[in-house]
Amino acid sequence: MREDYEVIIGLEVHAELSTNTKIYCGCTTKFGADPNTHCCPICTGMPGVLPVLNEKVVEYAVKMGLATNCEIARFSKQDRKNYFYPDLPKAFQTSQYDLPLCEHGHLDFKVNGQDKTVGITRIHIEEDAGKLIHDAYTGDTLVDMNRCAVPLIEIVSEPDIRSADEAVTYMQTLKSILEYLEICDCKMQEGSLRCDVNLSVRKKGDTKFGTRTETKNLNSFRSIARAIEFETNRQIEELENGGTIYQETRRFDDARGIGYAMRSKEDAHDYRYFPEPDLAPIVLSEEYIANLKASLPELPHVRKQRYINDFSLSEYDAEQLTISKETANYFEKVNSICNNPKAVANWIMTDFTKLLNEAEITISESKITAENLAELILLIDKGTISSAIAKKVFKKMFETGKSAKQIVEEEGLVQVTDENEIKQIVLKIIDLNPQSVQDYKAGKDKAIGFLVGQIMRETKGKANPQIVNKLLLEILNK
Ligand code: ADP
Ligand code: MG
Ligand code: ZN
Repeated sequence: MREDYEVIIGLEVHAELSTNTKIYCGCTTKFGADPNTHCCPICTGMPGVLPVLNEKVVEYAVKMGLATNCEIARFSKQDRKNYFYPDLPKAFQTSQYDLPLCEHGHLDFKVNGQDKTVGITRIHIEEDAGKLIHDAYTGDTLVDMNRCAVPLIEIVSEPDIRSADEAVTYMQTLKSILEYLEICDCKMQEGSLRCDVNLSVRKKGDTKFGTRTETKNLNSFRSIARAIEFETNRQIEELENGGTIYQETRRFDDARGIGYAMRSKEDAHDYRYFPEPDLAPIVLSEEYIANLKASLPELPHVRKQRYINDFSLSEYDAEQLTISKETANYFEKVNSICNNPKAVANWIMTDFTKLLNEAEITISESKITAENLAELILLIDKGTISSAIAKKVFKKMFETGKSAKQIVEEEGLVQVTDENEIKQIVLKIIDLNPQSVQDYKAGKDKAIGFLVGQIMRETKGKANPQIVNKLLLEILNK
């Protein structure tokens, strides 16, 4: 991006709520069933049916509002947003227009070490649409209504975001909170969490915003970042060439890495919003809101601070461990057994994360139980195995699900700490490498590294490295 431009971004995030049933009927919200098997006359918009609001939807939305510092409306209502599209059988989406459930919130987070605050304009409840499936073979388009009326919250941010990094971190922070609240499964690849990127650019120093475009339905952090980069550059180039930015709705094609215009953007009046006549207003009592507030779990930023205070972890480590509730729970369980927070943090953030990423699974799906990781750490702490060996044991544990003790026993990996035994090997290696000994005596300290390496190789990594170093120096300096 050019230095003389600034990018302005506001996100509209849609999160599918993990209620058991849909927003206005008793159909299940389960993902992945045969098409059109999870629907009924209500969610397919048959004439004469009446919706009944699922109370859980309000509860979940209010929890999210409270967790993002919003004001919760004591009185709000639902509205019809009218438009025609084949995935919307009612020809209107029940949403909220002028009186949303939550407003005026904000989210604080850190981006590349800097504090950042993004305002949250509103959070409202609405229903999802169905899905169109294009059959490339026959050229037909089919509709699957299973997703019709699955409950959503839409979280609209203020145009406070200034870079792709900030957008991604904001989205990550929202995801983390949704997971902690257990109100959304956050499976982005399944579309449970997705966002629209509103973006405009302006010359640095300008006080007025430029015309924005809206890139729809991004469902991975990577595509959010790439879409922002693409659209920023496109707008700057357009302006530099004397062109105009049109307020339009766009798509981003992940495979090709390019965005393209879909349609000119509609205004609110195009939707002919009007109050939903079949649903009563939502009136919340002080007591109801207070109870939900009291029921909120420990949120990610609070947990992070607790890790810094209680476990003396660095801010970075605490952040990494607490982004995912699953990881944080795992960390605490391991640490409750072996009581070595730094070691647990290191294992989780390095070796474990690497293997999990390669296998594309989450920590609770892995075969390494918290008890087994704790046992491995205790074996290192007690000196039973060296840290080098532990890395190999860890990999085996990941592959087989066996306990550390079992692997160490089966493969004879117990660390050698017997000084006499090590001394014999040290002497042998010294004997075999007169050149290195000479080098060392001539002041080339690097030779030590080579000799230690040979000794470790001879013992298949099992010799205690401190003892090896101590004995080697003693003998050489004699
Ligand atoms: P709509 O509902 O028509 O999409 P909103 O007024 O609700 O419009 O705004 C949608 C999003 O666009 C919000 O996240 C807001 O922060 C963002 N936004 C508004 N103006 C701009 C702008 N000039 N540049 C970038 N983002 C903007
Ligand atoms: Mg919009
Ligand atoms: Zn239904």
